[in-house]
Amino acid sequence: MKVLVAVKRVIDPNVKVRVKADQTGVETANVKMAMNPFDEIGVEEAIRMREAGTAEEIVAVSIGARQVQETIRTALAMGADRGIHVATDEDVQPLAAAKLLKAVVEKEQPQIVILGKQAVDDDAGQTGQMLAGLLGWSQATFASKIVLGNGDAEITREVDGGLETLKVSLPAVVTTDLRLNEPRYASLPNIMKAKKKPIEEMTPADLGVDAAPRLKLVKVVEPPKRKAGVKVESVAELVDKLRNEAKVI
Ligand code: AMP
Repeated sequence: MKVLVAVKRVIDPNVKVRVKADQTGVETANVKMAMNPFDEIGVEEAIRMREAGTAEEIVAVSIGARQVQETIRTALAMGADRGIHVATDEDVQPLAAAKLLKAVVEKEQPQIVILGKQAVDDDAGQTGQMLAGLLGWSQATFASKIVLGNGDAEITREVDGGLETLKVSLPAVVTTDLRLNEPRYASLPNIMKAKKKPIEEMTPADLGVDAAPRLKLVKVVEPPKRKAGVKVESVAELVDKLRNEAKVI
């Protein structure tokens, strides 16, 4: 079975994001980038499927400028077998990503496509769902457990107040949630080996997809600064302030 994993390059989640002075977006120049954390979980899950003998090949796909090849290399160093880079310098919005991934899926014919439940830069949480819709495939989102069967998969999902278990027929699109697994670090020998693994390059035009942005970003603003707190001397004073100043009790 072949597994396709989508890996997005985003601002490293440990970096404090800064809004550009002209409010047209966030600063990405000279900012540390990393693989979207939910996609690391996707790569890890695919590797575990191969280790369990249920997957034979793992293909990591990323869409974006030349630098996304670093993200593909990270996936290769973790254990993916080969990469596909869909090269574009345009802003890739979820619908464009879904259309491009659909074209790659039609070429590669995987049995499972794993995406993150959301990219931590745009927080859209849309690409997996749109991809499944465009392909007409089953989908299971926010997976916290995947058990592959014969021609199907049992997926446990985190829902409000509990867990839901779905059975989907393959091929299917699955999106990862935080508790699915803990991704491994790439070892130094594997980082070296990954340099020799192939990355195929293609453009949206090669795939016959118009990836032009459909949404216009109006502006991005910083959240309001938090006001400084005050120290109270006693519980009685706290209760008094909550009742008479904040008026919340
Ligand atoms: P989003 O819908 O933007 O929150 O992204 C959800 C998931 O779609 C991500 O975790 C990735 O797995 C995938 N994805 C979105 N954009 C890209 C991209 N440019 N390259 C590769 N994968 C992507």
